[in-house]
Amino acid sequence: MTKICSKLPETGTTIFSVMSQLAAEHKALNLSQGFPDFPVDPQLIELIYRAMKDGYNQYAPMPGLPALREAIAQKNEKTYGRSYDANTEITITAGATQGLHAAISALVHPGDEVIIFVPAYDSYKPAVELNGGKVVEIPLEAPDFEPDWDRVRAAISEKTRMILINTPHNPTGTIWSKSDMHELEKVTSDTDIIVLSDEVYEHIVFDGNEHWSAARFDGLAERSITVSSFGKTFHATGWKVGYLCAPAHLMTEIRKVHQYVVFSVNTSVQMALSQYLQKDSNWTNLPDFYQKKRDAFRGSLTESKFKPLACSGTYFQLCDYSQISDESELEFAKRLTAEHGIAAIPISVFYPEIKNQNLLRFCFAKNDRTLEEAAIALNKI
Ligand code: PMP
Ligand code: GLN
Repeated sequence: MTKICSKLPETGTTIFSVMSQLAAEHKALNLSQGFPDFPVDPQLIELIYRAMKDGYNQYAPMPGLPALREAIAQKNEKTYGRSYDANTEITITAGATQGLHAAISALVHPGDEVIIFVPAYDSYKPAVELNGGKVVEIPLEAPDFEPDWDRVRAAISEKTRMILINTPHNPTGTIWSKSDMHELEKVTSDTDIIVLSDEVYEHIVFDGNEHWSAARFDGLAERSITVSSFGKTFHATGWKVGYLCAPAHLMTEIRKVHQYVVFSVNTSVQMALSQYLQKDSNWTNLPDFYQKKRDAFRGSLTESKFKPLACSGTYFQLCDYSQISDESELEFAKRLTAEHGIAAIPISVFYPEIKNQNLLRFCFAKNDRTLEEAAIALNKI
């Protein structure tokens, strides 16, 4: 056998594949991997069909279809009051995942440090390490998972190249406040630190709260790349279309990587999205839409032994299962799938070293029927 040296010796298969496969094997309700089980707006499907019939079937320009970049520029202006140049500061990516990877590959050099907050989405660390960077982890402590700015200040060194943030936050369902963003602005001012701001749940924020995008702060926007996902916003995770916004000097470097990783993204979907974005209510309805689901799911657990933590954004609900079991999160998640027919995500896997806090993440981007069935099963445990 040919000898190889693994570039990611400690990395296994992502928990999302593991749990979704287990859910399928056991015919369990899949509240693990974050994806909706309800249909995409038929209007959007119709727009794609029309785009395909109209001949939008060949390569799009490398940074994305101009009409879509224009529509995103207008949306950003309206939503965050920030003007990004559609030609030089917006790039359409194959989902947020590829956008994150391209940004990290373009900007992190061997030996650079990248600060991330844990628990953290699982694609960040391998992307940094593949580029020879070193991840510096700052814990977010349960139950509030708020950033500790003294710890951030202490973690910053001459080698800090990037701070990677994620608000609304997966997997905890928390959001960063305006004052957190001001703190970030302060700790990075007068430095060359780049902020990579994963905002894929930007439109899923509850209880009248606002999403404080890095784009809304002058001191952050000049050093930030914001990351968005149409998969999350338009209930179509399988299309894998997202985008990055960043000042031109950063975007020039990112495109150098992007062009050789995918070159460009699905043309007809881009065309349809550029038209669908013309109607603001297609995304401004999301807080209301998902808050109803959050409330229904939490409400259905009042009598159960699963104790929901606060959830201010995303479509994930953390639940404490201490009253049921002291098994590790992974063991309990597997047993819940196999024996009770409900798949969820152990959050321990989003920490550098497995940390068991008796917490599971449930995705409530589901039909009312699915959520009701899940609640019946969970209430029996
Ligand atoms: N970041 C976070 C925090 C996520 O939850 C996800 C999952 N959708 C992604 C990035 C990746 O998004 P996409 O499916 O658009 O690649
Ligand atoms: N973002 C989704 C989640 O957190 C999953 C994405 C994936 O499967 N890679 O569940």
